[in-house]
Amino acid sequence: MSEVKKFKTESKRLLDLMINSIYTNKEIFIRELISNASDAIDKYHYLSLTDDKLPAKNDYEINLSFDKDKKTITIKDNGIGMTHDELISSLGTIAKSGSLEFMEKIKELSKDGENKIDNPEIIGQFGVGFYSAFMVASKVEVRTRSLYDDKGYLFVSKGEDTYSIDECDKDDSGTEITLYLRENTEEYQYDHFLSEWTLKDLVKKYSDYVRYPIKMLCHKSELKEGSKDEYEEKEVVETLNAMTPLWRKNKNEVTDEEYNKFYKEKYYDFEDPLTHIVLNVEGKINYTALLFLPKNPPYNLYSEKYEKGLQLYSKGVFIMDKCKELLPDYLRFVKGLVDSSDLSLNISREILQKSKELQDIATNVEKKIVQNLKNMMTNEFDKYVEFFKNFGINLKFGIYDDYGMKKDLLQDLIIYNTVNEEKMVSLAEYVKNMKEGQENIYYASAKNKEEVLAMPQMDLVKKKGYDVLILSDNVDEFVLKVLDEYDKHKFKSINQGDLDLLDKDEEKRIDKIQKDNKSLLDAIKSSLNGKVDDVIVSKRLTDSAVCLVSGDGLSFEMEKVIKSMPDGDTKDVKANRILEINSNHEIFKLLEDVYSKEPDTISDIADLLYNQALLIEGFSIDNPVEFSEKMCKLMIKAHK
Ligand code: ADP
Repeated sequence: MSEVKKFKTESKRLLDLMINSIYTNKEIFIRELISNASDAIDKYHYLSLTDDKLPAKNDYEINLSFDKDKKTITIKDNGIGMTHDELISSLGTIAKSGSLEFMEKIKELSKDGENKIDNPEIIGQFGVGFYSAFMVASKVEVRTRSLYDDKGYLFVSKGEDTYSIDECDKDDSGTEITLYLRENTEEYQYDHFLSEWTLKDLVKKYSDYVRYPIKMLCHKSELKEGSKDEYEEKEVVETLNAMTPLWRKNKNEVTDEEYNKFYKEKYYDFEDPLTHIVLNVEGKINYTALLFLPKNPPYNLYSEKYEKGLQLYSKGVFIMDKCKELLPDYLRFVKGLVDSSDLSLNISREILQKSKELQDIATNVEKKIVQNLKNMMTNEFDKYVEFFKNFGINLKFGIYDDYGMKKDLLQDLIIYNTVNEEKMVSLAEYVKNMKEGQENIYYASAKNKEEVLAMPQMDLVKKKGYDVLILSDNVDEFVLKVLDEYDKHKFKSINQGDLDLLDKDEEKRIDKIQKDNKSLLDAIKSSLNGKVDDVIVSKRLTDSAVCLVSGDGLSFEMEKVIKSMPDGDTKDVKANRILEINSNHEIFKLLEDVYSKEPDTISDIADLLYNQALLIEGFSIDNPVEFSEKMCKLMIKAHK
């Protein structure tokens, strides 16, 4: 006699949701049911280890089958099974925390009267357990026998108000769940699950690393024995999952080739990764992480569509593909996964964001990657340079982002080309190689060494033999501004502000020249009519006549970068322009001379000097025709 029972109210609610959901990711029912089966075997296994009376099994397995005619899919396990009462308490009631959260979320969303619960985004964020079967099935039969019972029970439900329970024959403990698939609709072909290929694919995708074999009777075409061209169809039981996740194997048992192969298959790269990192953490939170640094950036790394993140597994069961909480933005190129036994399968994205466990894992993963890069820099410098050429820019952004919050962690990972060294150097190396008496770390924005060496601003720096960092990325100067100093040494641009290069006496001498020639310098400044903010006697030029520098704040390079940004009001962004004149150069005597004899003509020379300084800096001049005219006039005058 059939026993008919009503579902508890929340269960009913959840069922309705499942049935009416337009959630596109219906296929996850496979993952949910296989994961339940695996848990049931886990429980059996655990009991058999702790209870002598219980027969140990060595044939644990999950069996998958389908019937095209009846339109059914069956998932069978030989785990712990359920008693009559457990059927009611487990399947007739929502038992698990994930579902409760789910219900609460729904309540919250329905508060404003609108029924938004069909939103696939929301439903997709939850593990939905057994009831997910109703997303694809119009009827579900559960045949089960608890290992503590000698009777089996059949639970049947159409996902409506009620379910029925009957006694049934079942030889062994375990559970067998049969789904009667819904009729196809225009939007959804439910019967596409009735194929070996689809089921194999889904198992690979979601349950590849479930510990127990997931078996299915498969059809294979094989050459007939003794024949060269005649094929026959054979039925073979195949195990569909890999079972032992690579990351759970002992590091020493896995070859680099295996890691590389795994990386290429799983993360769709055709090249081996640059390196892999295996992390096994046991403590408050237990987890394993397997991380890969690619050799080359994925083609869409810098596009908006690129999604960073690591795959998340819980005890070998796949939870989500791109868990972005696990990677900071500057490590967006890192691929890999985290498998933790302390995370619930049913964790939602909202909960994930707040999850302390996940944050701890993320912090540790970040630290480990940084540590690994530091080791690579020390032990395999050439490899590091290769890495840096491709991904260094990300690290630089990592320093620059969030007002330099990560600067201490990342500053030692940046390397630069410099004028004195053949190889790239870190800030630590630069400081180690500083000349006696050198206080500051000097830098110049340029494309290459030649460009820097040709700069007039380098006159004195070259004489002193100081090395200069060559900055060639747009973000470089911004990064140094954020760092402000390294190991108590300030960063100084060779064409900005005071370079601190002179000794006291020399400094005094130039200050005096500056003072004595105040009216000349003022006259030049006013003749340039607002084009420069100041005209001063240079403390950095020794050979060259003039140069243009900027004040301490914004540099020319930063001005260019900011102006080239697509949006924002950048009209007012302007670096201070300071024209420096070399007092040791003959031109200075000429200026003094001209100014004392014909002060009115100073403006032509001032203009020529200013335009030269612009050209040297790589700026275009305002009026090239006028410049050329003035040059000619001057040459003619000189040779008359
Ligand atoms: P969860 O697995 O997250 O607890 P489910 O709704 O998927 O939530 O399942 C509810 C309960 O039903 C499980 O906790 C388990 O006790 C029981 N159950 C489900 N599937 C099986 C199974 N294959 N074998 C034994 N018990 C099961």
